[in-house]
Amino acid sequence: MKKIAIYGKGGIGKSTTVSNLSAALARRGLRVVQIGCDPKADSTKGLTGGRQITSVLEVLRAKKTGSTLDDLVVEGDLGVLCVEAGGPTPGIGCAGRGIIAAFDRLEELDAWGRLAPDVVLFDVLGDVVCGGFAMPMRKGYADEVAIVSSGEMMALYAAHNIASALANFATRGYARLAGIIQNSRNVPDEDDLVRRAAAELNTAVIGIIPRCELVQKAEDQGRTVVACFPDSAQAGVYLALSRLLVPDAATEVAHAGAAPATPPLAAAS
Ligand code: ADP
Ligand code: SF4
Ligand code: MG
Repeated sequence: MKKIAIYGKGGIGKSTTVSNLSAALARRGLRVVQIGCDPKADSTKGLTGGRQITSVLEVLRAKKTGSTLDDLVVEGDLGVLCVEAGGPTPGIGCAGRGIIAAFDRLEELDAWGRLAPDVVLFDVLGDVVCGGFAMPMRKGYADEVAIVSSGEMMALYAAHNIASALANFATRGYARLAGIIQNSRNVPDEDDLVRRAAAELNTAVIGIIPRCELVQKAEDQGRTVVACFPDSAQAGVYLALSRLLVPDAATEVAHAGAAPATPPLAAAS
């Protein structure tokens, strides 16, 4: 199982990118769980026909005890398993605490063991990298972090904060920075701006996603570009990025481990 947290400034295109990556991984035959870690709780809308699913926090508020995985996980497009951590009532409570409460409940229910995903993608708001929002990059939740940014100043500022938070945990063996995913906004010299920002953070640009009207067209149907326009160049970009983050070889090993073709004892005799 590979676990990747995708961070970035609000509105930069995290959920769009993560949902398309989930769809691309699912198209490659992998079992994917996508977990929205943004109080907006709309990470998985592109996988559920535009429907916003009930968040873990909403379920926990309604049922103090007795919630099951079926209450928290919804099967979306291409079989992607969707979870939304959710957020507090505006003006009261702490969004970070909400993420922690949601993760605790998933662990209590043995979500990873029972859902048995090949890949878990966390979609995390990166405007405030406090203890709560840093949770997915700590304590073994994610193996890798990728940051979505455009060439806009505020997006790069958020990218810098996220990379700094990660650097603080580096010596403790937490998640490593996989790189920057450029979600283009077509600002002047964008490729160069993002490349230089990545170099300053000792990392690289691992994908450049063009701004594309198919994203909006798919979104209007509550779907991803990968599901809606599978043969488009834009779907190809998401598929290529999915291969970079989760190479084919890694998943072949995962599947070989999960279901050996020959039982080991028979092979030995
Ligand atoms: P976030 O999750 O970071 O808050 P979203 O994924 O919800 O951001 O994206 C915000 C808006 O930007 C959405 O309306 C989405 O359609 C649009 N968008 C994201 N990526 C692209 C892209 N590559 N091309 C065109 N529009 C995009
Ligand atoms: Fe909670 Fe973080 Fe907001 Fe503070 S900044 S209230 S820790 S979510
Ligand atoms: Mg989002």
